[in-house]
Amino acid sequence: MAELEGLEFGKSDFVLLDEVTMEQFMENLKLRFEKGRIYTYIGEVVVSVNPYRQMDIYGKDNIEAYRGRELYENPPHLYAVSDAAYKAMKRRAKDTCIVISGESGAGKTEASKYIMQYIAAITNPSQRAEVESVKNVLLKSNCVLEAFGNAKTNRNDNSSRFGKYMDINFNFNGDPTGGHINNYLLEKSQWCSDEMLQSFHLQNDPAVYVYTKEGAETVTSNNDRSSHKAVLSALEVIGFSKEEITSVYQILATILLLGNMQFESDGESVNIVGQEVVNRISELTATDPESVNKSLLYRTVATGGGEVIEKGHTEQDACFGRDAFAKALYERLFGWIVSRINSIIEVKDYDPVLHGKNTVIGVLDIYGFEIFDNNSFEQFCINYCNEKLQQLFIELILRQEQDEYQREGITWQHIEYFNNQIIVDLVEQAHKGIISILDEACLTVGKVTDTVCLDSMDTKLAQHPHYTSRKLSPTDKSMDFQKHFRIRHYAGDVTYSVEGFLDKNKDLLFQDFKRLMYNSANPVLKEMWPDGHLSITEVTKRPLTAATLFKNSIVALVDKLACKEPYYVRCIKPNEMKSPVLFDDARCQHQVAYLGLLENVRVRRAGFAYRQLYARFLQRYKMTCEYTWPNHLMASDREAVEAIVIQHGFQDDVAYGQTKLFVRTPRSLFTLEQERNHLI
Ligand code: ADP
Ligand code: MG
Repeated sequence: MAELEGLEFGKSDFVLLDEVTMEQFMENLKLRFEKGRIYTYIGEVVVSVNPYRQMDIYGKDNIEAYRGRELYENPPHLYAVSDAAYKAMKRRAKDTCIVISGESGAGKTEASKYIMQYIAAITNPSQRAEVESVKNVLLKSNCVLEAFGNAKTNRNDNSSRFGKYMDINFNFNGDPTGGHINNYLLEKSQWCSDEMLQSFHLQNDPAVYVYTKEGAETVTSNNDRSSHKAVLSALEVIGFSKEEITSVYQILATILLLGNMQFESDGESVNIVGQEVVNRISELTATDPESVNKSLLYRTVATGGGEVIEKGHTEQDACFGRDAFAKALYERLFGWIVSRINSIIEVKDYDPVLHGKNTVIGVLDIYGFEIFDNNSFEQFCINYCNEKLQQLFIELILRQEQDEYQREGITWQHIEYFNNQIIVDLVEQAHKGIISILDEACLTVGKVTDTVCLDSMDTKLAQHPHYTSRKLSPTDKSMDFQKHFRIRHYAGDVTYSVEGFLDKNKDLLFQDFKRLMYNSANPVLKEMWPDGHLSITEVTKRPLTAATLFKNSIVALVDKLACKEPYYVRCIKPNEMKSPVLFDDARCQHQVAYLGLLENVRVRRAGFAYRQLYARFLQRYKMTCEYTWPNHLMASDREAVEAIVIQHGFQDDVAYGQTKLFVRTPRSLFTLEQERNHLI
C-alpha cells in the first residue's frame, strides 16, 4: 500500500476505499486524475490513466527517488513496480513479468517504454560498453516494432494493433544481456498505415495510395521526417545489413504499388491496367515480369484427376488475390523483422558457470477487452486472450497470496472469486468450442457461409450458460437473428457479428504468390517465403487457421507468464478526444468494468489487504505510540508492533506472521496513517 500523499489527492490505493463499489472507485479515480495523479495502486497493481500531456514525473530525479525503494515509500508510479520486478529478480533470482493491458490509446506502449527506460537507467552502473550496447539495441528494437506494427486507427494516432511480449535477459549482476520478442499480430485489415509509410518516406502524400486512403487525414502529432530517420538509424543500430534494409523498403514499395494496381476486363480476359506497374514490381522483388503478371491474373489449380491447370481470374478474383498478396507481404515482412531482431538480441554463449544464473523480466503490452458497436473476429480473439490472461491473473494472485501466508505461518483464508474457466472452454475446447466449430466450417468443402457456421454453434452450444444468440433467445431484439451471437465474458456481455468470421479465419493467399516470392533472386525475400517451394499438388494439407494459430500463440504466452512472478499495469483512456482535462465518466466506468478492477480490489481485500515487515512497520508508525517512540525497549520488533496495534485498538484485525504484520481491513491502517499525518 502506498504512502498517502494527503487526502486531497484521493486514496493512493483502491484497497483503502471505505466500500468496494463502482461509485467509490470512480470517484477516487476521477479525483486523482483531476489532481494530476495518474497512477493509483490496487495492492501491487498499478492503475494508470492516460494524462494526454507531458508529465514531469519521469526524469532522472524521479528515477533516483524510486530506485531500490519499496512500493509504499513513494507515491504510486510505474517506476515503483518496475523496481519491484527488478528487485525480485535480482534478490531472489526470480523470473518476473510486467503485464500491461488496456484498450487502444490507453497508454500501454508509453508505459512499456517508461518501464524499459527505467530498467535501462538503473542497470550497468559501471557503464560497461557491451552492456550499454545490449541496452541500446533492446530500446531500438522497440522503436522499429512500433514503426511497423502501428496503424493509425480512428481511436489512436499511434496505436499498436498487436500484442507484444519482450523478454529481457539478465546476468547474475542484474545487467541486461539480451532479449527475445514475440508478437501477436491481429488486425490484418489495418495492416499498413499512412503513418508507417510516411515514416519510411515512401510517399509524401499517402492519399494517392488506395490502401491507405481511408486514414489519410494528416497526423500532426508526429513528425514523419524525424521518425523516418529514427527508424532507419534504429535498423542500423540493431544490426540490419544494407541489403536487408533495402529489401525492407522494396517490399514496402511493392505493397504500395499493389495498392494502386487496377484490372480491366474485355469480357474474355482480365488484364492489368498499365504494364509499368508490373515491371516496377518485378524489379523491386527480383522476379521476372511474366511471372508477376501471371500470378496476378491466373491461379494454378489441381483438378480431381490430379491434373494441374491454369485458371484465369475474374476481375473480382484478381482484386481479391492482389489484396491478399499485399497483406501477406506485410505480414511476412513484419514476422521476418521480428525474427531477425530476435536472432540479433538473443543471448549467445551464455555460460551459467561463468556468468551466474540467467534471469528474465518479461514485458507484455497487450490490448485489453474490446467492445465496439460492431464486434467481429478480431474482438473475439482479443477478448478470448483477455479471458486467458484474467484466469492467469486470478490464479497467480491467489497463488502468491497463498504462498506468502504459508511462508509466514498464517492460516489460509478462502477467497471467493469467479473462475472464468468455463468461458475459456467455451472458446477453446476441442470439438465443442467456438474455435473448433469455426475450423470445422472452414475445412468443409463447398459453400459454408457464416450463417451456416452460426447455426452449427447454436446447435452445439445451446446449453452453454455463457453463450446465446437471437435464435436461442428469440425475445432479445438487440441481436440480429442471422448474424449475432453473444458471449457472457467475465467482464460483461459482448455481442459478436459472425459476418466475415470464416474468411478471416482462412488462409486465403493463392499458392502462386508464395511461389513467385520463393523464386525471387533476392535472398532476403526468398527467406520470407519458405513454403513457396511447394507445388499446388503438395499443398493439400490444410494450413492452420488464423484462430487456431492465435490460440496456440496465446497458450504459449500464458505458459511463459505462468512461471514468472507477475506485476500488472492497467491502463485507462480518460476520453475519446485526447484531452488532458476531460474525464468521461461513462467511458472510464466501462473500462474499469472490463479490466475487472473491482474484482481485483475485492480479491486483494478478501485476505489481508496490507502486510509489512515488522521493522518497516515500526519505522513508519513508531511515532504513534508512547511505548515505541523514539525507540522501543521490547524483546523484539514484533512485540513493539503489537504494542502499536493494541494502542490503536485493532488487535482483532491483524495476524502476526514470521516476519510481517498482516492487516485484514484497510481501515485500521488508514487510522494509523491519519494519526501519523497529524504528528508530522
Ligand atoms: P496504447 O499503446 O495503449 O494504444 P499509447 O501508449 O500509444 O497507447 O498512448 C497513446 C498516446 O497517449 C501517446 O501517443 C501519448 O500521446 C499519450 N500518452 C500515453 N501515455 C502517456 C503518458 N504517460 N504521458 C503522456 N502522454 C501519454
Ligand atoms: Mg500500443
